[in-house]
Amino acid sequence: MEKSNGLQVILFPLPLQGCINPMIQLAKILHSRGFSVTVIHTRFNAPRASSHPFFKFLQIPDGLSETETRSRDVNLMLTLLNERCESPFRDCLTKLLQSPESGTEQKKQRISCLIHDSGWIFTEPLAKSLNLPRLVLNATKVSFFRGHFALPQLRRERYLPLQEQEDPVQEFPPLRKKDVYQLLDEESEVLDAYLNRIHDTAKSSSGLIFMSCEELDQDSLTQTRQDFQVPIFAIGPSHTRFPAFSSSLLTPDETCIPWLDKREDRSVIYVSFGSLVTISESELLEIAWGLRNSDQPFLWVVRVGMVNGTKWIEAIPEEVMERLSEKGKIVKWAPQQDVLKHRAIGGYLTHNGWNSTVESVCEGVPMICLPFIWDQFLNARFVCDIWRVGLHLENRIERNEIERTIRILFLEAQGEAIRERMELLKEKVGRSVKQNGSAYRCLENLVDHIYHLSS
Ligand code: UDP
Repeated sequence: MEKSNGLQVILFPLPLQGCINPMIQLAKILHSRGFSVTVIHTRFNAPRASSHPFFKFLQIPDGLSETETRSRDVNLMLTLLNERCESPFRDCLTKLLQSPESGTEQKKQRISCLIHDSGWIFTEPLAKSLNLPRLVLNATKVSFFRGHFALPQLRRERYLPLQEQEDPVQEFPPLRKKDVYQLLDEESEVLDAYLNRIHDTAKSSSGLIFMSCEELDQDSLTQTRQDFQVPIFAIGPSHTRFPAFSSSLLTPDETCIPWLDKREDRSVIYVSFGSLVTISESELLEIAWGLRNSDQPFLWVVRVGMVNGTKWIEAIPEEVMERLSEKGKIVKWAPQQDVLKHRAIGGYLTHNGWNSTVESVCEGVPMICLPFIWDQFLNARFVCDIWRVGLHLENRIERNEIERTIRILFLEAQGEAIRERMELLKEKVGRSVKQNGSAYRCLENLVDHIYHLSS
């Protein structure tokens, strides 16, 4: 850490793996620049304080019951969290501002700002009443952040006749109608109100932070700056600045790495659908057969509880398991960033969460895209249609299709061309975080901005 600059930042992540990771990365960056860091977090999915001895962690009650914490309905979870955390968060923040450590009027001003996830929608009046500047971190791609505010309008217009499925959606590029149809299908009017609040909370902030960069999001950045009229900082794929990841909520299976050590260069397909996606038993079996029949070695993450109605992978019959273990390894959670870095990895069958997509780009690993929910549809379109560094499964979870796509990626000229484009994209994005790159400059500006917020 640089010498302390005497300033403190308060961070408030949403308790989801894909939101905790970028917030903790930001915490590490700011700490390395001399800020002291306090993280306010819910009891549910609490980050491991012991992994970050330099940060102060303050837990607030979230009021979620055991059953609610097991809910797979993320929108419901976010609604409940916003309802139930407002008052505990207010108490915690107020106490923090008045605590002996920062208790005098003079010291109070040493807290520079609150940085919260864009999904917390009650922070604006509270921070205002406490005279505390507020920045918003959004964990999606900038183009998704900007485009998703069009969803309520698209729903009102009863958009999307099914026969034009492949047509682009002007209001939300580069999605196709069939993608938006899936997005709208699962959303409700409650969500529309939530989106409006996210929009207003972001617009009234002192700045927006994204884990993206000009190289991945150029047009959207320009447009979002115009729409929101607040400073915007696309500080890049932040995980590249701190090698080891310590914000994992689950314990990674470290045997993945010695297993990969024994495989040939670029021979293994890594398969993971992140921390939220669930699949059915029959989808599990289709994926299992697709992987086995491709004859390519595979490393597959199946989280406990990921397969609806079962505990883990017991739905795979024993004789199939035997055939699978000839070629592959199944784990409950992987050290993903180390896996993607490994020389043996040649492709990633992914759900296209934004963190995973960026991690794959940064390691130059071409993708096979199987988006399930929310921003994953848009990330997959960027990967396949705009950057052309992956193949899209078009939601066909079917063994022959999976086998065919893996073979194209690993064995055919089309796969080789994808790999070459991915190498170029990796280099471009890699340059953005190096000195004077776009993300590097944005980070310098962000540090400067936070510094001046407290003056
Ligand atoms: N991840 C991991 N091990 C796994 C699967 C995922 O460490 O076995 C990490 C991954 O590196 C990424 C995060 O979990 O940083 C998932 O975030 P993402 O935005 O990709 O997807 P989400 O979980 O939010 O759907």
